[in-house]
Amino acid sequence: MPALRVLLLGGTTEARRLAGLLVADGHTVISSLAGRTSEPLRPAGAVRIGGFGGVDGLVGYLRDERIDVLVDATHPFAATMTRHAVAAAGASGVPLMVLRRPGWTAVPGDDWHRVVSLAEAAQRLPDLGRRVFLTTGRQELAVFAGLDECWFLARSVEPPGTPAPRQLAIVLDRGPFTVEGERQLMLDHRIDVLVTKDSGGADAKLAAARALSIPVLMVNRPPEPGPVLSTPEELAAILRGRGASAEN
Ligand code: NAP
Repeated sequence: MPALRVLLLGGTTEARRLAGLLVADGHTVISSLAGRTSEPLRPAGAVRIGGFGGVDGLVGYLRDERIDVLVDATHPFAATMTRHAVAAAGASGVPLMVLRRPGWTAVPGDDWHRVVSLAEAAQRLPDLGRRVFLTTGRQELAVFAGLDECWFLARSVEPPGTPAPRQLAIVLDRGPFTVEGERQLMLDHRIDVLVTKDSGGADAKLAAARALSIPVLMVNRPPEPGPVLSTPEELAAILRGRGASAEN
């Protein structure tokens, strides 16, 4: 099977798993990370860090590195990078594949309120609860800055910047989290509402909220630009087939 040169837009658990599978299959993999986290978990293969400089920069990179396949395995809410990947693939003719873990689905016992944006979540907040567990990422705390009637517990990997809500406690932590740990955290801080993006993946906080009958403000994902694969294994299998057909 001839090896492919794969540019993997990453930063997610699934992207790291995919990098491992592709490297094991003999492909040359360059994982690209945005550089938001100061000590990122490093995937197998080569790693580059930082933006490309927009669509033109990405097109140039695909050409200079002689990339055969572009894989978008970024976070479901990294909509700009996803848009740029589509445009760069179109302009360069490099095939694009998208890996996205499935979103979450409510089960009996859940009290979810779906919203289309963080701004809508902020608007709905005071009616649903005043002691808020925010797991939406440190880059977007500003949206909640005006809500002086609410107290926030925000969890992120890196310390957040400003502006931020006036009444704010920070917990710096990186998953995976356990249901019991999440339940205890919510009890300790007398949380009465959870705000999260529909990121998919491990869902300990959602199980804990269900157990405690805490309502959840769930921010919907931006729409996908086309078909997606939902597991690294599926995508790796397709590339194995593609390598084999290139050999024939
Ligand atoms: P974004 O808004 O879609 O991207 C903004 C810019 O950051 C892009 O235009 C690109 O810069 C650069 N960028 C993003 N992902 C990149 C990658 N994998 N490699 C190289 N450059 C990248 O993305 P974001 O919301 O800032 O997210 C950035 C990172 O954080 C991603 O790795 C994402 O998976 C992770 N993340 C995002 C969220 C979220 O809710 N947005 C949550 C958790 C983790 P250029 O235009 O210069 O190429």
